Amino acid sequence: MRFVSPLLRKVVYPAMHYSGSLKGFVPNDACLVVNYHGVIPPDPYCRHPFLDANLVSSAELRKQLRFLKNNYNVIDAESFRAWLEKRDVLPRRSVLVTCDDGLANNLSEMLPVLQSEGVPCLFFITGESCGERPGVLWYEELYHLLTGGVSETDIHTIFEIDRERFHQHSFQGKWWNCVMNASRLNASARAEKIGLLRSLSKFVSSKLPERWRRMNGEELKMLASSGMRIGAHTMSHPVLAQCSEDEARREVTQSRTDLERLLGDKVWAFAYPFGNPATMGEREVNLAREAGFECAFVNVGGGAVDPSQRFALARTHVTADMSLAEFEAHLSGFHNRLQAAVRG
Ligand SMILES: [Zn+2]
Repeated sequence: MRFVSPLLRKVVYPAMHYSGSLKGFVPNDACLVVNYHGVIPPDPYCRHPFLDANLVSSAELRKQLRFLKNNYNVIDAESFRAWLEKRDVLPRRSVLVTCDDGLANNLSEMLPVLQSEGVPCLFFITGESCGERPGVLWYEELYHLLTGGVSETDIHTIFEIDRERFHQHSFQGKWWNCVMNASRLNASARAEKIGLLRSLSKFVSSKLPERWRRMNGEELKMLASSGMRIGAHTMSHPVLAQCSEDEARREVTQSRTDLERLLGDKVWAFAYPFGNPATMGEREVNLAREAGFECAFVNVGGGAVDPSQRFALARTHVTADMSLAEFEAHLSGFHNRLQAAVRG
């Protein structure tokens, strides 16, 4: 979890945002990338403070998109690609909008806002979404199942977890421990373990509301035919660095081939699941290149994209608790520069 001091959030960033000075930190020839994870469905909806932290309200999304249109130049994915390949130049201070995971709300809640604002978006989708019933993301279901009173002994046995260390973690730490261990399994062995957990948990996954569902193949085709671009996000969204090399290669490569087959179009961009240095590294960069993608995005950073890092392109990760001023502080790269300066 990022640390932002209240002084920065409440005083410094708003002052710089409203005076327009944050924009001064963005060079004219910079290209910035924003990353969403979708839009929270309207009420009545039972909010989940931890798992919803990556989603924004549709009102907030609209506000941020309008801000981008008024202050930066929003570009589409093909213009970004042409710039990356040095075939074309971009307008001053360009911004590419992206969104990860392919939740059903990307189509039902997010697309209408994008369309009414005339903003294009590059969506990163898991290959499992090519099927009829991709269901929920396995690590989100795992979180819910762990709330259902499963004994720690059962959890240790299922995920082969070290008892001593597990005990010291908070609930979220325990969950992440399970996510890391389950990512070492191939997708079918992992699904089997989650099935076992399902049989032990009092939580009933089949009752999870629409909020958690991923798009299926038909919905994905609708999203693509609306003019939005599609990129790949592995098959099942594991922590790639935990996978065996063969499994990681399959996760990356098959997501491209399955999505291309479904959409009948080239899928040239990739985004690493979780996308931070704890979950991917040099091996994953090589796998994305090997799989035939033209570029790949991480989910950290902010500020100008470095086109020489085509397989580790930085993105500003938008979170639910960001004010517009904080959004711009991250987007402009000012927040990161400040943090780097503080760290020395
Ligand atoms: Zn993701």
